[in-house]
Amino acid sequence: MPPGIAVGSWGQQLIAFRLFLPMFSTMSRKVEKTEKSARLLELARQVTPGGVHSPVRAFKAVGGTPRFIERGEGPYLIDADGNRYLDFCCSWGPLILGHADPDVVAAVREQAGKGLTFGASTELEYQLAQFIVDRIDSVEKIRFVSSGTEAVMSAIRLARGFTGRDLILKFDGCYHGHSDFLLVQAGSGAATFGQPSSAGVPASIAGQTAVLPLDDDAALEDFFAHHGDNLAAVVIEGIPANNGLLIQRREYMRLLRQLTERHGALLLLDEVITGFRLGLGGAAAHYGLRPDLLTYGKIIGGGMPVGAFGGRADIMDMLSPEGPVYQAGTLSGNPVAMVAGLTTLRQLADGTIHTDLQKKTRRFVERLSAGLDGAGITIASIGSIFWLSFQQELPRRADRIDSNGIARYNRGYEKILNSGLYFPPSGYEVCFISAAHTEQMLDDAADLLASLII
Ligand SMILES: *Cc1c(COP(=O)(O)O)cnc(C)c1O
Repeated sequence: MPPGIAVGSWGQQLIAFRLFLPMFSTMSRKVEKTEKSARLLELARQVTPGGVHSPVRAFKAVGGTPRFIERGEGPYLIDADGNRYLDFCCSWGPLILGHADPDVVAAVREQAGKGLTFGASTELEYQLAQFIVDRIDSVEKIRFVSSGTEAVMSAIRLARGFTGRDLILKFDGCYHGHSDFLLVQAGSGAATFGQPSSAGVPASIAGQTAVLPLDDDAALEDFFAHHGDNLAAVVIEGIPANNGLLIQRREYMRLLRQLTERHGALLLLDEVITGFRLGLGGAAAHYGLRPDLLTYGKIIGGGMPVGAFGGRADIMDMLSPEGPVYQAGTLSGNPVAMVAGLTTLRQLADGTIHTDLQKKTRRFVERLSAGLDGAGITIASIGSIFWLSFQQELPRRADRIDSNGIARYNRGYEKILNSGLYFPPSGYEVCFISAAHTEQMLDDAADLLASLII
């Protein structure tokens, strides 16, 4: 039988199935047992701190048993005990197409058969670089690394090398990975320069990073008046989405651009979470902003470990081997990761997935909001990112996040998880919708979630 006919009849069967069995909702089953996850955690704790390789996975904030995952299927996660969850975490952002997208998996399999790493250049690196340079106005040249942390760390070194200045400015509530000079929090009182936010970060390093609250024009102007001429770079998240979803005003971002330009400091827009999530142009296009440097990760690796930094060609050409700023990586531009990223981005290239995701997310948020009417919960959302804020007014800066709201999310978490919805295990984290989530699944999830929270 010609393949076209086989596909057609299968499609019709699917339609018929959905028409005749509407009462079998797409919702996942209730979680009944978690013994295997609990046992795996016990074993893992003997050989790994907390049993996890990234702290939030330990569920410390929300309690309960962190789930060990066996596999992902489209919008679902399946854990070691066989429980199925509709996934709103999506590996913290990379999985815009959902789990185990067939095209991405096929491309990865094919590349793996040809070799996993060469430590030499490949055409795939060039293709992914060209894809990104073609679509992001402010990225003239780009270099790949293996994580978002590495991307921002390298971009900061480059900014310092280019400007000959040491000082950097970041914002309270923005996350840029875990390099020493970004694990910094605001000092007490009016102190501008930061203090380490982790043990092991030398105070002398934290002292090279200034920290300001977001959304405060006067504080920004004052800072630049005093320190602008010593500043190598300002780093800010495209849309701050690692500590609630703190959507910034366009005018604030423009002010940042004006001030950096006036003082010869570079503007580094960290698009690790927003890049190719908020449409093809990311947050830079959303604000109509032209940063000097940009960082990427998450989606551009299609689920494999990748990061990238790019921007103005005159700055990028300061990098080794062209210039004096050293940067390198054994697995940088890894061919399997490159092909996973390329296969993901090519599916996004015509914009229909983003449009569809935005529509689905809006519908989900509206339905959930209606269901939560009067429960004191607002939902921040942009593109296919949303954040359940258990407070009446949406904050634009970190110190306006109500910790009682976070506590409320954390208390309710286990009940939500045990109903088959996998949300991020901390009230500060944002949620994602993927192309594999259908409207029907999302409608059911919105109704279920509303009934669980109220
Ligand atoms: C996730 C993230 C990072 C860190 O990326 P890793 O790959 O986890 O090192 C940096 N910046 C932003 C904005 C992120 O969302």
